Amino acid sequence: MKRYLSLLIGFFYAFCAFGSDPHKPKPKKPKNIILMIGDGTGLAQLFAAYAANGFYLNIFSLAEVIGLSNTSSSDDFITDSAAGATAFSTGKKTKNGMLGMGPDSVAIETITETAEKKGKSTGVVVTCELPHATPAAFFAHQPNRNMYPQIVKDLYKSNMNILVGGGFPYFDTVMLKKSNYNVALGIHEMQKNHAKKQVCFYNTDSFPAKYSAGRGDVLEAGSMHAIHELSKNKSGFFLMIEGSQIDWGGHDNDSAYVVDEALDFDRTAKKAIEWAKADGNTLVIITADHECGGLTLTGYDSAHKRPQMNFSTGHHTAIMVPVFAYGPGASVFGGVYENTEIYEKMRNLMLK
Ligand code: MG
Ligand code: ZN
Repeated sequence: MKRYLSLLIGFFYAFCAFGSDPHKPKPKKPKNIILMIGDGTGLAQLFAAYAANGFYLNIFSLAEVIGLSNTSSSDDFITDSAAGATAFSTGKKTKNGMLGMGPDSVAIETITETAEKKGKSTGVVVTCELPHATPAAFFAHQPNRNMYPQIVKDLYKSNMNILVGGGFPYFDTVMLKKSNYNVALGIHEMQKNHAKKQVCFYNTDSFPAKYSAGRGDVLEAGSMHAIHELSKNKSGFFLMIEGSQIDWGGHDNDSAYVVDEALDFDRTAKKAIEWAKADGNTLVIITADHECGGLTLTGYDSAHKRPQMNFSTGHHTAIMVPVFAYGPGASVFGGVYENTEIYEKMRNLMLK
């Protein structure tokens, strides 16, 4: 009887440890998730940055797990950034141009809204204007990404804790204050801002400068500020960080633009992963909404220590993009899957 009892207890513990599939250990659950999106950043963009950086990229060296994501939207083989980000924020494929809603124009609760309901803090840090497609998919529900006045109104109504980016001229600071957002202008003011709800604009321009035009390390500074502020919440946080302009370099077929922006994104990824490593409860996912430019690498220019880059289009392409993951729960990001599964995996790990 005693033997049976210990056997039974053994089975019970095995069941608890492994769930329904005895061969598959349950992934560790993170308290916080940092989702990093390199807009228009396929493997070629990352490998070009790696080659231009003396054959080193933090993302390649630090990531623990890699997967591949199919970025197609609901109505097109080739997605735009609105549908691409909506797949991450809602888990639904939608039509190109749509934000935070399905193809039927019905709004869907975003991962940020679900996280807020669970008592977590949320934020976005980008190198474009805040009403731009990728950040907007995390706080807005609109049928068209160009509806900036409506997208801005959605931000006034949102409960996100911290937003860092450009786009100052699109906002009414009185309305932001009415919505309990503390507004900071410039990185220096941002770093002194410890309000529970805050919006930081890099400057008063419509959108931030290119890295090569002197933007500075604002993506890194904004991301670390957001992480420090959001991590004050003991219930955890969700943060989306976007290297927005890698995509713009792709549209311009400008190889130096792509490389500079990808390296800025990579330095930020290093800081985020280092923070996550020290924290121990944070999952970092680094991926793209789609590729841009149909980029390939045709050789290596040893004199200038840069890869030779050839673009095949000025638009996005359909090629799958890599997904890199670091930290608790990273194991579930191995494999080949739809972009919407990134949402499912994040939700299952952190919000269920
Ligand atoms: Mg974008
Ligand atoms: Zn684009």
